Amino acid sequence: MRRNLLLGNWKQNTTRASALELLGGLKAELEKSPTKTELGVIPPALFIDLAIGQQYTSCFAVGIQNISKTVKGAFTGEIGADMAASAGVKYALVGHSERRAYFNESPEDLAGKLMRCLENNLIPVYCVGEELSDRKTGNYLNVIDAQIKAVLFGLNTKDLNNIIVAYEPIWAIGTGETASAEQAQEVHAFIRNLLANKFGASGSDISILYGGSCKPSNSEELFSQPDIDGGLIGAAALNAQDFIAIANSF
Ligand code: PEP
Repeated sequence: MRRNLLLGNWKQNTTRASALELLGGLKAELEKSPTKTELGVIPPALFIDLAIGQQYTSCFAVGIQNISKTVKGAFTGEIGADMAASAGVKYALVGHSERRAYFNESPEDLAGKLMRCLENNLIPVYCVGEELSDRKTGNYLNVIDAQIKAVLFGLNTKDLNNIIVAYEPIWAIGTGETASAEQAQEVHAFIRNLLANKFGASGSDISILYGGSCKPSNSEELFSQPDIDGGLIGAAALNAQDFIAIANSF
């Protein structure tokens, strides 16, 4: 169901001590500046339990950065969707560009991860985005089209109600370079249209988040676009004040 949502992806950052500090900082910021926006933090898996602590349940939900495509068994190092769900995790990132690029995750891998999430009532956040070269040659909508069709078009309409999409142009991730509100809106509208044509109301009713150097100085303009429902935040999610300022810019 379409709703405003802000997720903070901490990536491979924080230690136990700094994770606790950041969680405490977020709670303190929320007490000063309460927000109506639904929030989620996505810490390293080792610190998920800290974020699920009772004192935070009214502040934010918790996500996981990666999930196994397999159900269970001899897959050393993997974390299964059933494990994450049993630990109280709500969201799972699937298809983040860093996983696609550095861990060679294929569309088949991503489809498996997505299915494991849905089977275990985790909400997958399916990330798509183009390289700078595709943006420059004008091929970017074809890239997005292929990424959406390869993984989401195999789902049924009911499943689509339980997923979130994030548009994250790769050239804007961690670079300080943000897509302009118009550039982001064009792709968000394209994705919504694609999904609406395939899945009807469930497609048009999907939440589509923007990610890529989103910060307090540009979030308001991005979030005011008709097809941008929220953000997937990287660097700015490591600063409690910035993250809550972004949450309050809807
Ligand atoms: C991300 O990696 O999901 C992201 C959006 O990072 P950043 O905000 O740092 O660009």
